[in-house]
Amino acid sequence: MSPNNGQADIATIERHIADFRRAVKAASVGLPCVQIAADAICIGQDMLSVQRAMDPGGEIHLTILAVVHGNEVAGLPIVTKLLNQILSGAIRLQAPIGIALGNSEAALLGRRFIDQDLNRSFGAPVNHSREAQRAHELQDLLARSQFLLDIHQTREPSQSAFFIFPWQRKSFDFARRISRELPVVTHWGGAFSKDGMCSDEFVNAKGGTGITLELGQAGFDEDQIAIGLACSLQALETTGSADVGPNKLRKKVHSAGALYTWNGIIPYPPTGDVTLVPGLINFQTVAAGDLIAKHDEQDIFAPVSGRILFPKYVRPGTPEFGGPRPAELCRIMKTITEEELPS
Ligand SMILES: [Zn+2]
Repeated sequence: MSPNNGQADIATIERHIADFRRAVKAASVGLPCVQIAADAICIGQDMLSVQRAMDPGGEIHLTILAVVHGNEVAGLPIVTKLLNQILSGAIRLQAPIGIALGNSEAALLGRRFIDQDLNRSFGAPVNHSREAQRAHELQDLLARSQFLLDIHQTREPSQSAFFIFPWQRKSFDFARRISRELPVVTHWGGAFSKDGMCSDEFVNAKGGTGITLELGQAGFDEDQIAIGLACSLQALETTGSADVGPNKLRKKVHSAGALYTWNGIIPYPPTGDVTLVPGLINFQTVAAGDLIAKHDEQDIFAPVSGRILFPKYVRPGTPEFGGPRPAELCRIMKTITEEELPS
């Protein structure tokens, strides 16, 4: 884990996007492939299956998305590696798949988004914001995707990569088939955000199976990239989208990753000085009554025991720096059993 503060430098991001676009160009010349939108392609085992996938009502087996949040860059080298392995023949496609960059425009600026959060923009009415328009461009791909793996990263470090998605039994099964060992965070009974939908919610609403993979703190971390690549290959294989050939590396996992949902959301005070205690990271344990933040002269304590999720430090580079404050200080998760999930 590198102390990168969630910021990758722009020249490196530019190079990775150029690598991706070079691979897309090679695929569009050498492989059965159609461009759906900028930085978004459907690629398959033969041109007929790609054309069928793109027909009205057609289906794309699996879509893998990167940089839906522009600063969460680890997905860039992952999707480029996948494309290059498809080009080399190391991965043999058996069904049409989608590969896309969500928000390369924001990525090139080192920002999470430009006008509004793309991952709260799907299924919402189009307005003049760039993300609303980009959501509209990507919706055709997402609506015809049977499975979606959307690769994200967190603001703060994380003790582990994890899956997060709105509860659906089939989403949980998909996550476990990709990795038995990664923890799963799921939630139900209310949308994640009241504006537009997240990519996974949108795919679910269209009858597909969408999940999000959070790799760890934003940046080009090699360990995170390796985990994201392994998960993507497993997603290709387990959905019957591809034979991943020499990449096959099934590990013996002795115990399944834990299952979590949130048990408390600590709101961000709307006024006054707020200082989160330093060093909170994702999955860190807290006990009820532990100090979480200072609000002016008042202490804010953890209302319940559990594990921290999405602590919101405001610092240069975060969307709220010099802007409206975040809605939440952090969430606290509890472990649940599969029996406690809604049926
Ligand atoms: Zn994200």
